[in-house]
Amino acid sequence: MKSISLLGATGSIGIQTLDVIREHPDTFSLFAMGFGENIGKAIPIIKEFSPKIVVVGNDNTKRELQDYFPRLEVIAGKEGLVTISTADETDLVVNAVMGSVGLQATLQAIEHRKQVALANKETLVTAGHLVMEKAKQHGVRLLPVDSEHSAIFQCLNGENEKQLNRLILTASGGSFRDKTREDLIGVTREDALKHPNWNMGAKITIDSATMMNKGLEVIEAHWLFGVPYDRIDVIMHKESVIHSMVEFDDNSVIAQLGTPDMRVPIQYALNYPDRLELSGTKRLDLIEIGKLHFSEMDQERFPCLRMAYEAGKEGGTMTTVLNAANEAAVQLFLQGQISFLQIEELIKKALDAHQSIKQPDLQTILEVDRQTRSQVLSYLD
Ligand code: NDP
Ligand code: MG
Repeated sequence: MKSISLLGATGSIGIQTLDVIREHPDTFSLFAMGFGENIGKAIPIIKEFSPKIVVVGNDNTKRELQDYFPRLEVIAGKEGLVTISTADETDLVVNAVMGSVGLQATLQAIEHRKQVALANKETLVTAGHLVMEKAKQHGVRLLPVDSEHSAIFQCLNGENEKQLNRLILTASGGSFRDKTREDLIGVTREDALKHPNWNMGAKITIDSATMMNKGLEVIEAHWLFGVPYDRIDVIMHKESVIHSMVEFDDNSVIAQLGTPDMRVPIQYALNYPDRLELSGTKRLDLIEIGKLHFSEMDQERFPCLRMAYEAGKEGGTMTTVLNAANEAAVQLFLQGQISFLQIEELIKKALDAHQSIKQPDLQTILEVDRQTRSQVLSYLD
């Protein structure tokens, strides 16, 4: 039995992780969980799975939750995420919180030699070198949950990674795939939140529309698989059937395919290296699909992707700024305070103003993250 601490239990990935746990009660159990403040979603989860510890985002939420569950151990704040990620009872940490708030929990889980299933890509974007250094030092292999990275991970099974030539990430194109830059001027929050293929949390849905999500994924892939940026390609593939591909030295390409369903990569990470049946997943019917489409990614049309490549190549704290500016800008957009195209403008401004610090330590990263967020807010004054 694998005992799991689930960070971000009330989110899109969190809920789908619970589906996997529910389906295999003899294989997985929920030891602890964390969420921000969505008590309404958390209560039924706590009733059903009876976790021993629950971590919440703030003291108010803690008080409210304890009114419902007086005997439950509830911890408020980021340190709580570290506590449940390092507890003796925890075998595997699923990090599915949104944003760089997940960083310390990931680092500490690795230090305690826990298995880590990582959905929280912002952790690798903001501090990839620290995470990978620690993973190497403690002999921990990170288990990717992001569908593209899970695909690559599966394609590399049994291969000699030294013969890996190129990673090819596929991009569905997000809500605004077929719009021109001019069309983007008037788009609303509601338009942006309609993703054609995946049902995801609000932030990543906006990231998909700006194509920053693919940019973050390029950086995530760079760290997870140790591949330089000029050997990571992104191609548009609107059906989201090929989840990503790997090209080897002999020009062979291996791809991983399936109907879009995040529970598949989640379950693969939870039970790696063995597969399990999963009810409700649709078989891939290629005859019914008939055709798959591919086209080049236009980095002028999607400047966020270009900025991500540039920040990744620059390295150091540049990707910390990219991530923090993006988180801040997307939040402003979701709050109705800026337009869609202002997201990329604010990120560009923050990147232009930053002088990258090479090999930053954790304190530097946290400080740059904090400064960038307040700087982005100051641009609105
Ligand atoms: P959601 O917004 O749906 O969920 C985020 C979760 O994090 C919620 O449980 C939220 O709690 C919790 N949370 C937010 N802030 C805090 C905090 N300060 N302390 C504790 N918990 C907090 O996001 P997604 O599930 O869509 O995404 C999660 C991560 O997975 C992201 O990094 C995303 O990029 C990645 N990912 C997501 C995919 C998807 O299909 N959704 C696909 C691939 C990667 P609350 O509900 O209370 O706010
Ligand atoms: Mg993805």
